[in-house]
Amino acid sequence: MPEKIDLLGLLPEQIAEHMKEMGAPAFRAKQIFRWIHVRRVFDFAEMTDISKQFQSELNQRFYINLPKIEQTLASCVDDTVKYLCRLSDGSAVETVRMVYHHGNTACISTQVGCKMGCKFCASAPLGFIRNLTPGEMLGQIYAADSQFPEDDRISGIVLMGIGEPLDNYDNVMQLLRLLSHKDGRGMSLRHAALSTCGLVPQIRRLAEEKFPLTLSVSLHAADDKKRSELMPVNRRYPLDELLLACGDYFRQTGRRVTFEYAVIAGENDTKKAARQLGKRLRLVFPGQRPHVNLIPVNPVDGTGFTAGSAQAFQRLLEAEGINATVRRTLGEDIKAACGQLRRDTIEKKRAVNGIESISGQ
Ligand code: SAH
Repeated sequence: MPEKIDLLGLLPEQIAEHMKEMGAPAFRAKQIFRWIHVRRVFDFAEMTDISKQFQSELNQRFYINLPKIEQTLASCVDDTVKYLCRLSDGSAVETVRMVYHHGNTACISTQVGCKMGCKFCASAPLGFIRNLTPGEMLGQIYAADSQFPEDDRISGIVLMGIGEPLDNYDNVMQLLRLLSHKDGRGMSLRHAALSTCGLVPQIRRLAEEKFPLTLSVSLHAADDKKRSELMPVNRRYPLDELLLACGDYFRQTGRRVTFEYAVIAGENDTKKAARQLGKRLRLVFPGQRPHVNLIPVNPVDGTGFTAGSAQAFQRLLEAEGINATVRRTLGEDIKAACGQLRRDTIEKKRAVNGIESISGQ
């Protein structure tokens, strides 16, 4: 018996191929896609315009699984909710639902763990386990939606949870196609943002896809030596190469690139750091006011980093002609910052079991 296929991760065109193999009419593909992505029905038995016989055939070939919400943390200061989502193999990832005036946005994870090793990040010390499938990424959004009324669904996404989205390139592209497909959710990718630590070849590939999404680059330093210390990926793709790719992305897609900058006391918050950042961004985006999102670094145990003043650094950047906003840290009381809930859970388990291995997490 061949392994069952994850139906949540398939586009109508791909479902149609299966329909052909099953000897079913082509219209079934769109019908099933709508049941899942518009009606949010995940049980074949509830697809009422499909015969019992065909429901059972579908059941034999496909499965539809949402991640299980294992922990919910609701903020007391705003409407942010954070979920610990348990996947079918026992791995856990985090998903955050944020409420903005323009709609609800989900911050989703793209990998279980991460390979990139950024020194300030809670996920880095836990290592990389595996990529998420398109269905598992979409499932995080649908699981979060299932906790709210139908008219309060998520309308935007940021790929800014655990993992490096461009290190899981094909699955993330499939996710974007699933989300924006006209027969399904039909999400405008203008409401999508992808955050990367700076994988240059994939940024260049993404520009070719012509998705209208916002590219967000985690910069955190404008000096190669400092950036390589904080983010090992910089040794592979140094700033000149990265910023050139960002400029080309903007010229090719017409979509702006924004920069993330976690302000770390004594590391990247000096006047010199602001001057370097200003100089580099002016060079890459001549005649424009590039935009930097500042966030005081979230102190993570064991990193030794403490937050610098984002407001003070903002003033330094504005003097350089750079637009900078201090990001509202939504849900700070519930550790909405990436990776901290998963890390706490893993560490608690380790302390209880006295084990070193985190496999299966
Ligand atoms: N891998 C991607 C997306 C996931 S991380 C990336 O690097 O962009 C999401 C964002 O959180 C990135 O900007 C990352 O640099 C930032 N980040 C990670 N740990 C942080 C911390 N402790 N404090 C503040 N920002 C952090």
